[in-house]
Amino acid sequence: MIPYGRQSISEDDIAAVVDVLRSDWLTQGPYIARFEQALAAYCGVRHGVAVASATAALHSACLALGVGDGDLVWTSPNTFLASANCARYCGADIDFVDIDTATYNMSVDALAAKLVKARATGRLPKVIIAVHFAGQCCDMRAIHALAQQYGVKLIEDASHALGADYLGGKVGNCRYSEMTVFSFHPVKILTTGEGGMVTTNDSTLQQSLMRLRSHGMRRDPAALEQQDQGAWYYEQHELGYNYRLTDIQAALGLSQLRRLDLFIARRRALAARYDALLAGLPLVTPFQAAGGESAWHLYVIWIKPDSGRMLAAQRREVFDSLRRQGIGANVHYFPVPLQPYYRERGFYAGQFPHAERYYQGAISLPLYYSLSEAQQDQVVAALQKALS
Ligand SMILES: *Cc1c(COP(=O)(O)O)cnc(C)c1O
Repeated sequence: MIPYGRQSISEDDIAAVVDVLRSDWLTQGPYIARFEQALAAYCGVRHGVAVASATAALHSACLALGVGDGDLVWTSPNTFLASANCARYCGADIDFVDIDTATYNMSVDALAAKLVKARATGRLPKVIIAVHFAGQCCDMRAIHALAQQYGVKLIEDASHALGADYLGGKVGNCRYSEMTVFSFHPVKILTTGEGGMVTTNDSTLQQSLMRLRSHGMRRDPAALEQQDQGAWYYEQHELGYNYRLTDIQAALGLSQLRRLDLFIARRRALAARYDALLAGLPLVTPFQAAGGESAWHLYVIWIKPDSGRMLAAQRREVFDSLRRQGIGANVHYFPVPLQPYYRERGFYAGQFPHAERYYQGAISLPLYYSLSEAQQDQVVAALQKALS
């Protein structure tokens, strides 16, 4: 089976991990800061805060912005569960903004209209989480302009988009947001096993994120209420967690980072090759918005509806045929508001029609660094057969 995604681990990656295992520090050692600084430098941002996962990163980012009981957070319905769940962890409510039918990212028009309504009803969101679906950056300049106008804070969920370019900078530079979140799960662009990072230009947010990942502990003498206790002493002033990344993981991440540009170049080349090989099939291939270049976490095709047939049934047939032919295709995403947990909280079918229609026809084809051209040809041949 050719999977839809997988990690690439080199001998250098393995050696980097083994070095840490032979060292004095398995966690909270020197590799965390090195990995944070290297990733921040790559993105062109002041700070990186490494955490246990992107889920932990999203939760911490919401907390650092003061999201709590009674607050409201908005995100895209076309995302992984964690982009919505993070608001619920904080006791906040979540709502969704429908997607753009070309990019499958949050629609700026839908956002603008929803903000007008929210102001009229007196319930504006505190935070909007923009998700860079498949690795393509949202229209952050426009989303940021709206956020400024309405006094809303922005988090970018760039779990798919490490290495993506946007308006002359790297995603993660936080030019248009307070914070950006990355995931290092093995199917993502770069891996640490499990792991995540928050980037920010705001040192107050950085300090807050660092406390949240370590139980809310403070050691800086100037920040302590009791300053005469001794060198062992720490204080907790707020509720934090154990959201730390280990040094073992950070060493792997730092080693992987050296190949990040290779990973991205390969994904871009494979995506361009899919575009060429799939031309002429009854499919919509990914749309690339001007002003940026995707990191290509996913290569998503959308089945062109056949008149007189249900799109979902058509997609199911193509998907099942691919799987039977040994192609580990996948589907991203079943709209989050239609999950039973969120339906129980009042969301219903028909509420986000573009995300729902997109979902019915979507298939993610295999795309990863070590996918060979021969394997890609096999995927294309299987797809031609599935569609015939
Ligand atoms: C993978 C993913 C996450 C969660 O990442 P973890 O590191 O597994 O916690 C969050 N948001 C999106 C969009 C993702 O794809």
